[in-house]
Amino acid sequence: MATLRCEALVLRSVDYSESDRILHLLVPEVGRLTAIAKHARKSVRRFGGTLDLFNRLEVEIARGRGSAMSRLDRARLIHSYAPLRTDPARFALGCYLLEMLDRMAPEGGSRTDVQRLFQFAVGALDWLASHPPNAQVRIFLELRGLDALGVRPELRRCVRCGRDGIEGDVVDFHIPDGGPLCGACAARRGGDRLRVHQGTLRALEQGLDWDLARLDRLVLPPTALGEASRLVSRFQRFHLGVELQSERFLREMLPPPSGRSGAHSQGPAGP
Ligand SMILES: [Zn+2]
Repeated sequence: MATLRCEALVLRSVDYSESDRILHLLVPEVGRLTAIAKHARKSVRRFGGTLDLFNRLEVEIARGRGSAMSRLDRARLIHSYAPLRTDPARFALGCYLLEMLDRMAPEGGSRTDVQRLFQFAVGALDWLASHPPNAQVRIFLELRGLDALGVRPELRRCVRCGRDGIEGDVVDFHIPDGGPLCGACAARRGGDRLRVHQGTLRALEQGLDWDLARLDRLVLPPTALGEASRLVSRFQRFHLGVELQSERFLREMLPPPSGRSGAHSQGPAGP
């Protein structure tokens, strides 16, 4: 077994057999990795409470070959993101983001992509630890997470023909294609779409590209907030395929905005 010494973020931690724990880790070198921590529940001295959700660790891992599970041999706590454990809304949003990463993060992948994903994860937890979350922050962190996972929606050009400068205040955003449609493409393209103001797409663009530290300076009006929430949630659901287990708890802790408009529309039949 090759030994890997690196940082890791705990995405999931579950008890296994009488004394072990199984961990899902996000590792900047290799992506998502599953490792068993032998005797973690029997010997406090060995891992000493380091294996909890949200923890950022320095680890030593014996990597399993092929499909064999890796083994966590050592873990030292670097940071624990304590405020996420005491505030229900922060906890709910933190769990939701970690579950999304756990479901979608690749096992392997290019080093640059995986490091960018790790930077997103620790940046989001840092942000949540120092700011109270709200519905808008949820939208932006979820969208930035999808972007870091390699799933970025098109927000400006027609996603079918590439045309810039789509006419009209309100446009069709095609969920499976992941972007807005110009008038001509909207008339031809069938499938699941959402009516949104172009101003909402601009706001989402800013939410993606602005420095994370400035995120709370961006304030969306209620209509844009409602549209952005529906768009990101349906876009994420399309790519994930299922509802995350932590979604319901998050909805209770941070109810989605109720801004109207953006009615759901189904385009003409056909591809
Ligand atoms: Zn077009």
